[in-house]
Amino acid sequence: MPDADDTIDTDDDFIDLRSDTVTTPLDAMRDAARDADVGDDVYRDDPTVTELEAAAAEAVGTEAALYVPSGTMANQIAVHVHTEPGQELLLERESHIYRWELAGAATLSGVQTRTIDAADRCVPTPEAVTEGLVTEDLHRPGTGLLALENTHNYRGGVAVPVDRIEAAAAAAADGDVPVHLDGARVFNAAVALGVDASDVVEPVDSVTFCLSKGLGAPVGSILAGDETFIEAARRVRKLFGGGMRQAGMIAAPGLLALENVDRLAEDHANAARLANALDDLSGVDAPEPDTNIVVAHTADAGIPASELVSECKEAGVGCVEFDDYTTRFTTHLDVDGDDVDAAVDRIANVVDGAAPVDARPD
Ligand SMILES: *Cc1c(COP(=O)(O)O)cnc(C)c1O
Repeated sequence: MPDADDTIDTDDDFIDLRSDTVTTPLDAMRDAARDADVGDDVYRDDPTVTELEAAAAEAVGTEAALYVPSGTMANQIAVHVHTEPGQELLLERESHIYRWELAGAATLSGVQTRTIDAADRCVPTPEAVTEGLVTEDLHRPGTGLLALENTHNYRGGVAVPVDRIEAAAAAAADGDVPVHLDGARVFNAAVALGVDASDVVEPVDSVTFCLSKGLGAPVGSILAGDETFIEAARRVRKLFGGGMRQAGMIAAPGLLALENVDRLAEDHANAARLANALDDLSGVDAPEPDTNIVVAHTADAGIPASELVSECKEAGVGCVEFDDYTTRFTTHLDVDGDDVDAAVDRIANVVDGAAPVDARPD
């Protein structure tokens, strides 16, 4: 194993596993941006955005799609369109919409959230959905929307099988409640499950996915659904400040990003390789992931995530704190198998060099 001092950090040498959002656009994307046909997309005059929206809708098997600046905006537009102020939004308690979107559902759409526990594979059971639905009456607000997530980010990039989505969505449909899928990484799910993304999306009424994550675009996400929904979503995008003008400049790389779906399998293989190697380190528990997100638990090693993150950074590896003793590493387009092996060496040095567990306060 190399000495830590040998492996640190020139900037070029830094292996950034904080997220799959850190990818930088390839030359072909930069060329496509420069050469894109553009127009004012608020007037629907941008042919490149229109082409991207059509290709995106086709990729997930919906009637229509809308190009938006971020996954967060896509989710928040969906919440706004599907619900009325004062209704409830039902979602899983570790979902991105609940955990990491600044209470946007409350502030932007005036809805109350009700959380349910995820069952096996990160999707609530139909029974849990049924129990969580609230029927409107004199005292109760009524449920406006059920939101699901696939892959499930916080639980480690879990690829939720289609039948689980179907079962949860059917329970919501029984209560006349629409379903939104936060599929920021829906293509990772599809590739891991060996199905088409349209199969993953088929049971739900709308879906978000990010072009800017593993697919490698510099910016942008998609909200997809039927034509009526997307027409309403277009107005809400404007309301939220997301109407863009010559957006073909950023949509053109997005079109190329849609060609990167199949190669996500490489990211998954690299993540499995990383998890297996980390799991072999003393005191580190890193279950084999379904997709490109590795979650490492270091409680047994007595290493807090905040310390692991800062020492990995020193050693030339980027990662993020997920919880007190839980750290996330994400593989993506800009790291290959050699980078993963180099990252493992550096992380191993950090773990080996940490103070022994019994020397730490409780
Ligand atoms: C990244 C992510 C989002 C938000 O996407 P941004 O483009 O960062 O706003 C939403 N949901 C999930 C599950 C994500 O992983």
